[in-house]
Amino acid sequence: MKPTDSVSSQVEAHNRPLLPVAEALQQIREAIDPIKGNILCHLKEAYGHIVANDILSPIAVPGYDNSAMDGYAFHAEDLSDSEAKTLKLIGKSLAGDPFDGALHPGECVRITTGAMIPEGTGFVVMQEQTTIDGEQITIQPEHKIDAHIRRAGEDIARGGVVFEPGQKIGAAELGLLASLGVSEIEVIRPLRIATFSTGDELASLGQPLGEGQIYDSNRYALYGLIKELGATHIDMGIIRDTREAVASAFEEAANIADVVITSGGVSVGDADYVKETLERMGAVNFWKIAMKPGKPLAYGKIGNAWFFGLPGNPVSSMATYIKIVRPNLEYLAGQSATVPLRLTVKTIDPLKKRPGRADFQRGILSYEGDELVVRTTGHQGSHVLSSMSRANCFIALSAESGSVAAGEMVEVEPFGTTL
Ligand code: AMP
Ligand code: MG
Repeated sequence: MKPTDSVSSQVEAHNRPLLPVAEALQQIREAIDPIKGNILCHLKEAYGHIVANDILSPIAVPGYDNSAMDGYAFHAEDLSDSEAKTLKLIGKSLAGDPFDGALHPGECVRITTGAMIPEGTGFVVMQEQTTIDGEQITIQPEHKIDAHIRRAGEDIARGGVVFEPGQKIGAAELGLLASLGVSEIEVIRPLRIATFSTGDELASLGQPLGEGQIYDSNRYALYGLIKELGATHIDMGIIRDTREAVASAFEEAANIADVVITSGGVSVGDADYVKETLERMGAVNFWKIAMKPGKPLAYGKIGNAWFFGLPGNPVSSMATYIKIVRPNLEYLAGQSATVPLRLTVKTIDPLKKRPGRADFQRGILSYEGDELVVRTTGHQGSHVLSSMSRANCFIALSAESGSVAAGEMVEVEPFGTTL
């Protein structure tokens, strides 16, 4: 690229209008398609992965009528709405040791929580509501038919759809599948994501810091974010700013991964070879997003891999990933769409802002008495990574919004909570 071209393309990029967050999300979503390919895995290995096909229940849950309480089982004919009744105790049904026989009018059976309901049972009375005198059990009137009985198939019918494709497997899903006796499921193969950092100022952990050097933190923040996603991370480390190093890194990454994510080197005015290589190798858009922190974002395709070039500043890099890249990675991975939970709460602190870009300020949600309120983490510089760590939410201020006074209501997005 000749110097004059570089200057004119920088001027052009500088004048381009800012792209709203929602539009960037939409444009990417329209261009990409979920990956193909399923794997069969044991239940524990399915954790964090995405269900590939409808999972049908091989059994009914509960598998048999059982008691919701510790108490006594009675026949329906012994229901009374006016008088107390005294019935004869004829046996017991314990969890794992059912009553062998049937219950008739005038009789009752001692029963524990989860134990099988004896044949002939019409209702269960909790033990606190009974009077026991040897084998004579007395109950007061006004019990209801079916009381404290969990019916077979009440939770899940046999053959019913337990999970649809797109469901992410978490702890509750593992437990539920185990309760059905399912030991293996088919999940979508994990997304392969290669990451590397660019910049000659970056030092790897374990190296002493030279003058003007900083440790490569984006590599580790991205590692955590990709781990949370359930994807396979291919960590390519730091790539030096030489034409050859950058070109071969991109080629290798595009060959082995579904997605390549870099950080740094995509801002206007960068001297890096990243942009030059991207322009040569692929179809990549260099965007300026109307968000803060963040702004530069490169997105496109290199070889067969989707490409995201995050800004270098650590907070911008995380925020851009969370707000724009992650939802699209989830889509690529086959996961059903989620939206961040948004709450409206009072800000204790005044919040400085200029209209123009959507702000995702770092905030700390806490209770003041019964009221959920938010405070700022303080300095909002895009290099202040401790703000991301101290924060438990983004304070989302719209592009149009200006500064906010203490006591006003603002919208917050708690970290890690989606619907
Ligand atoms: P750039 O986007 O390359 O212009 O970088 C913007 C700022 O982010 C510079 O101050 C870089 O030193 C810093 N930066 C870039 N990459 C990283 C990284 N991997 N870890 C920490 N800081 C970074
Ligand atoms: Mg750089």
